[in-house]
Amino acid sequence: MITLALSKGRIFEETLPLIQAAGIEVSEDPERSRKLILGTNMPDVRVVLVRATDVPTYVAQGGADLGVCGLDTLIEHQAESASDDLFQPIDLDIAKCRMSVAVPADFDYAQAVRRGARLKVATKYTHMARAFFATKGMHVDLIKLYGSMELAPLIGLADAIVDLVSTGNTLKANRLVEVEHIMDISARLVVNPASLKLKCARLQPLLDAMAAKAGAIA
Ligand code: AMP
Repeated sequence: MITLALSKGRIFEETLPLIQAAGIEVSEDPERSRKLILGTNMPDVRVVLVRATDVPTYVAQGGADLGVCGLDTLIEHQAESASDDLFQPIDLDIAKCRMSVAVPADFDYAQAVRRGARLKVATKYTHMARAFFATKGMHVDLIKLYGSMELAPLIGLADAIVDLVSTGNTLKANRLVEVEHIMDISARLVVNPASLKLKCARLQPLLDAMAAKAGAIA
């Protein structure tokens, strides 16, 4: 049995064409079903639905043979669970966005940086944020949040946020502006190293088809 871990939403939708390229059709729409294990047209392939942040854990611990998650999720996971072993992730070039620093439109970020001000920064991505501000030589106080980061500067909880930006509409709707581009983000295919060894004959063609299709889309 081959088990693929995916999260609902953009990752699931954008991974579908990649597994279809390997001849795999998922038998149910996760938006219409409450099932967490979805069958496919191939009796030995199934999809498990997990939270995006849990994909690396499922794959590293062998709960799934492979999975798809954002580079952001992977970096944060690796910072927290350095002993987890995952096969070199493949860039699938899907679910693309960027990690950015944003502040309220009326906040003079450049001046705060020049003055060496100690900023309060709200984020879910504390490891990436800490590394970024350290390379800039800036002292920041990080406030860990699990969602709705955009709210924090609006109610005075933080001066800035570090978050994923795709269209920029969420920032605009909350009168926030991007002031730093930390890195480009896309989804990665991660594989359990033991699965790759033990199920190589079944897994390798699937990995190759997904990588080839991803390259063709990009
Ligand atoms: P947007 O309004 O299109 O810029 O999207 C920004 C919102 O969607 C923020 O709340 C982000 O955390 C979230 N977001 C954007 N892109 C992604 C992604 N690839 N993966 C997860 N969340 C994302």
